[in-house]
Amino acid sequence: MRPMRWRGLVLAAALAFVLSAGPAGAESGEILSIAKKDFAAARLGQRGLDLLMEKDGRVYIIASPGEMAALAGLRVSYVIETGRLLQAAGQGLAAEGGINGAYHSTFELETDLRILERDHPGLAAVHVIGESLEKRKIYALKISDNVAADEGEPAALFVGCHHAREWISVEVPFLFGKYLLENYDQSAEVRALVDASEIWIVPIANPDGLEYSIHVYRYWRKNRRANADGTYGVDINRNYGYAWGFDDIGSSRSPGSDVYRGPAPFSEPETAAIRNLFLAHDFRAMISFHSFAQDILSPWGFTTEPAPSDAELNAVAASMAGLIAGIHGTIYSYGQGSRLLYLTNGDTVDWTYSVAGAPSYTIELPPVDIDHGGFFNDETAIATIFEENLPAMLYLTRYGVDHPLPGPRPAPGRRDREGQSVVRKPKLAARSVPGPAR
Ligand SMILES: [Zn+2]
Repeated sequence: MRPMRWRGLVLAAALAFVLSAGPAGAESGEILSIAKKDFAAARLGQRGLDLLMEKDGRVYIIASPGEMAALAGLRVSYVIETGRLLQAAGQGLAAEGGINGAYHSTFELETDLRILERDHPGLAAVHVIGESLEKRKIYALKISDNVAADEGEPAALFVGCHHAREWISVEVPFLFGKYLLENYDQSAEVRALVDASEIWIVPIANPDGLEYSIHVYRYWRKNRRANADGTYGVDINRNYGYAWGFDDIGSSRSPGSDVYRGPAPFSEPETAAIRNLFLAHDFRAMISFHSFAQDILSPWGFTTEPAPSDAELNAVAASMAGLIAGIHGTIYSYGQGSRLLYLTNGDTVDWTYSVAGAPSYTIELPPVDIDHGGFFNDETAIATIFEENLPAMLYLTRYGVDHPLPGPRPAPGRRDREGQSVVRKPKLAARSVPGPAR
């Protein structure tokens, strides 16, 4: 099975390449197929062409305009397949999978977001909020009534895939967006929520890492920053600007570490994109999805001291855990991240909470432990994991709409000699950061 699935993936990647290339730009290419016997006769295997696959007696390549001219000069006949394959992609080739099965690659996600936007005009808009180090677009799906207008409504953010290998974390926020759009007309609850709010969904915060996890190394976690010492990757869930680098327990200063925090807060384009989006709207709730552990983790991560609104954070988490358990009986533990799981600094939820006190949670999706699959969730589990998280996402969005925020959290202090945190004066969040690219 593997070669077949690999083909599908390579093809999807090729389509992504063709799609992402500018119109008639120097990088534009076409997918061509050439009869295998013609390919061999012209010794094309020795010409350094970008080979995609062999199928049904034909060889598929990506060719630049110059290469197409060279093929014509060699009197090699070819068929331009780009249009046919793009059409096939739109009709479900993406959903069929490839090497990552039912999980989304970056290309498959773009396709599916565009389909949602096309099918739900007025309610769904795809925004490009940034670009990764390898120039992949970071997409946000905005869902609201009058979606094209900035109505300044209370907003909720759902983000997936800070960590490349946590594939299930892409699917849950994506399916939430799909659910809202497909149920807007039928469900009074959904319609009221969408009408009253802006729901922003960023299914893939780390597209480079995800592609690396799909194609090269399944267990890759970080982004693909080329570090000065020859190692790769910054842990973008340690790169946010609140309590960044607070200590060397919750993150690492060592570039080769899987929890390397990067050279500076928001040094990575992926975290800068989320920051700019978050500061440009009135976000009152957020969930950053990860896997695995079945936990609902609230701030702070950087210290075991309680957050200013600890009781509220805990009560909301308890409600979400109850809603989750009510669907399939799955138990998610909840509590302060630093106590329930481990210390982290520079993580997403500490920063979003710091901006204005928005209830912010890391949800570690199933399974509960490595013996039950770890980072690998069976494809059939995608639907059940989404179903159990759905009421919690609806609840938190509604909670955010109904509860204005208290204001910025105090800036973190360094620990004094007794290990107590020395809290400094509150620091106002910068509001002058530019909004997301449209
Ligand atoms: Zn994670």
